[in-house]
Amino acid sequence: MISQYSYSFDQGDGKNKALLGGKGANLCEMTQLGLNVPPGFVITTETCLSYLEHKTLPVGLMEDVRRQIGLIEQSTGKQFGGEIDPLLVSVRSGSAVSMPGMMDTILNLGLNKQTLAGLIELTDDARFAYDAYRRFIQLFGKVALGIADEKFDLHFNSVKRNAGIKADVALNSEQLQEICELFLQVVYEETGQPFPHDVYEQLEIAIKAVFNSWLGRRALDYRREFHITPDIANGTAVNIVMMVFGNMGDDCATGVGFTRNPATGVNEMFGEYLVNAQGEDVVAGIRTPKPVQDMFYEMPSQYRQLVELRNKLEAHYQEVQDYEYTIERGVLYCLQTRNGKMNAAAMVKSSIDMVKEGLISKERALLRINPEMLEQMLHPQLEPSHNQKPLAQGLPASPGAACGKCVFDADSAVRLAKTGVEVILLREETKPEDIHGFFAAQGILTSRGGKTSHAAVVARGMGKACVAGAEDIHIDVRTRQAIVGDIHIKEGDLLTIDGSNGNIYLGRIPTIAPSFSEELKVILNWADKVARLQIYANVDTPETARLAVSYGAKGIGLCRTERMFNASDRLPLVVEMILAGNTEARETALAKLFPIQRDDFQQLFEAMSPHPVTVRLLDPPMHEFLPSEHQLLEEINALKHYLTIVKGQQVALETFNLPNELPPPFNRLTEELVLEAIAKKQLMLKKVLELYEVNPMLGHRGVRLGMSHPEIYKMQIRSILEAAARCIKQRIPVEPEIMVPQVISSKELLKVKQFVDEIQAELEDQYRLKLNFKFGTMIETVRACTRADHLAEIAQFFSFGTNDLTQATFSFSREDAENKFLPLYEESGLLHDNPFETLDILGVGKLMQMAVELGRKQRPDLRIGICGEHGGHPRSIRYCHDMGLDYVSCSAPRIPIARLAAAHAKLLENQPL
Ligand code: PEP
Ligand code: MG
Repeated sequence: MISQYSYSFDQGDGKNKALLGGKGANLCEMTQLGLNVPPGFVITTETCLSYLEHKTLPVGLMEDVRRQIGLIEQSTGKQFGGEIDPLLVSVRSGSAVSMPGMMDTILNLGLNKQTLAGLIELTDDARFAYDAYRRFIQLFGKVALGIADEKFDLHFNSVKRNAGIKADVALNSEQLQEICELFLQVVYEETGQPFPHDVYEQLEIAIKAVFNSWLGRRALDYRREFHITPDIANGTAVNIVMMVFGNMGDDCATGVGFTRNPATGVNEMFGEYLVNAQGEDVVAGIRTPKPVQDMFYEMPSQYRQLVELRNKLEAHYQEVQDYEYTIERGVLYCLQTRNGKMNAAAMVKSSIDMVKEGLISKERALLRINPEMLEQMLHPQLEPSHNQKPLAQGLPASPGAACGKCVFDADSAVRLAKTGVEVILLREETKPEDIHGFFAAQGILTSRGGKTSHAAVVARGMGKACVAGAEDIHIDVRTRQAIVGDIHIKEGDLLTIDGSNGNIYLGRIPTIAPSFSEELKVILNWADKVARLQIYANVDTPETARLAVSYGAKGIGLCRTERMFNASDRLPLVVEMILAGNTEARETALAKLFPIQRDDFQQLFEAMSPHPVTVRLLDPPMHEFLPSEHQLLEEINALKHYLTIVKGQQVALETFNLPNELPPPFNRLTEELVLEAIAKKQLMLKKVLELYEVNPMLGHRGVRLGMSHPEIYKMQIRSILEAAARCIKQRIPVEPEIMVPQVISSKELLKVKQFVDEIQAELEDQYRLKLNFKFGTMIETVRACTRADHLAEIAQFFSFGTNDLTQATFSFSREDAENKFLPLYEESGLLHDNPFETLDILGVGKLMQMAVELGRKQRPDLRIGICGEHGGHPRSIRYCHDMGLDYVSCSAPRIPIARLAAAHAKLLENQPL
């Protein structure tokens, strides 16, 4: 039962974004703060959900709307549908989280033949009134009646063309009147009905259209992409606000602004405005607006009002605001404010500045940055030494460099991207319906619009490179070409854009990884001081270890030794070891591998010194190091074919008594060599068939290999400990940790521990030193969780392998699930999230919790961490913190994210997840 359908701006709770939507809540809050907001009211998201469920407006809603309109009429003296001083309203969507441009807005609602006449009389400005009317018909036609923009644009452009006019502002009232007539005709032709005359009928249709837009494709795509689930935002509110006009003459304007520069974070007036225009002109990029700084000269008193508004907004919200305003006859109205979407570098800079300015605390500064965003700061930049001249320049709308093949529409971007091709989406200007193209493209380039155009705002939110308003480029969508002077760029041609300076280049320019900014270091150092969890890295080579250290890793939580085995100089030795017919032969092969592994570990320890390095003993099944059966059969066939050639060569040589000097490669290929190769491949094939398993991931792998082939684990243990001994001899502090994978029983652990003890004793004797290290286990089987107390009798540390543990808990593999049924499960709500990305708290989390409790009961100082993929995922990191883990380990590029997420986890520890 809904207790109240709507709230007026001076009544609604500005904190209740779930009920009033972000926009509505902010309008209430601003009104109650005393800012100059036009009067209006919000219809709640609850009402929207009821409408969507029952497919009809709730009983009494329209009466309530009439009551609210009556209140506006009372306070303004205007009349909705009145002929004297007509009240016009905007109808805007707004859900709990901002989804820029994702849903629909209708402006100037309330116009019909009578109110139009009233407006002309009142303003004595027929041009203005017809301009408002044609905008209303088109927007209403598009949003509420589903008529494509092009149907209207066709007429609009033809009137302009016939009158020889380029800019919309040059249209006179007669021409605009003609456009209105044509537009009304379009509506009649397209719907078979006349345009609704009754203003309350208009309002009812508009409210329904905004409600329905919640389930429109754009909104659904956006919510899916950004994981906006119903607990985050459910339904849209509808904001009905008295229209104020920025297009009533030269003392009017409309603009959008950010309280700080959203591209750099610098504390300065930032924004754009247009004199004598309506808001949509700025956002849609139809006219190229002026920078707000020009207003200082053009409209000084309004500029002062704007500075005051900006300061009040930021001081109140303690957050960078993205606001919209209109100046009507010299009076500034704030129409909307919301937290500004900025790129990561700008968020980081403004966080530091706002702390220095005394506006916010360090804790708040950390919390305002979404950890996932930091990935953007590791975006590629153009190779600084390149000396290519730009082909053209636009506005630097969203930083980062991108290169790809040109496409001229969003669908082509998606189609090409699906085949693995990187694309740049080129448009005159983008519209919300292009959103799927943004997701698919590496970067976006527009020839019109400013830094607050749709393209710029959306790209910045996604952290994608964007150059906007490159006016020297003529984009011809019809012929699918971009034309710059006499250069014609066609679909499929390569283009590079630099969203940091607006440069556009023909062809591909190499990019480099960005360096870690000093400001990011400051923020992450603050984060480290707050966080309790330590951040380790999953790395396998000294190079990535060094990178991880530079990103702030405090240790290696997982070194997968099999990755070392796979390097090209080791693989033949590994294969030799696998093919060995008996233990002795295997030991001979292992003896060759031993010094290589030892040197690898030594380098890794050195790179990471003095931090801990957790080395995991061999995990994957052995057949993973051998070619597949299919490949081997093909190779054997090919070799047999060569054999006939080589034999043929031999016969030819003898028959014709030719000199035995053949050109390469036959000069080296003898029958004997080919036969030998065939025999080796056949041996491999036999081994592959022997090693075949129905469920290899649940088969002969992990510690089970150590049980059946102890010599492999012994070689690895010796390599680790001898590398440590050598480091100690060189006075390099090391903290090795030996970790056993796939454990299900303490007996397995005990057996490996015995190998360790023996080898340790030998090496301590040999090197005359004491080896300090830890011995522990991965917890990645369900049984390990249930037997954790017994494992902790032997293990000094646990590391959750949540990749395998998730697979085991769900009984499905990531590869099969993601390719087949997981999208369906997520879409239909059978599963909330992909459990391989976001830790499944209800299932896997429960098992982990059990393991933590059992393990620590047995060994109170047991160190516990996580090294599955989830270790780099902020929500999972929060859960790990709450569970009392000591560290999370993730891939090197996720380390900055994990550091910040660990601080968030501490700061939010008493709040629900
Ligand atoms: C895991 O299972 O979570 C893990 C880290 O091991 P791997 O991904 O190598 O199986
Ligand atoms: Mg695993």
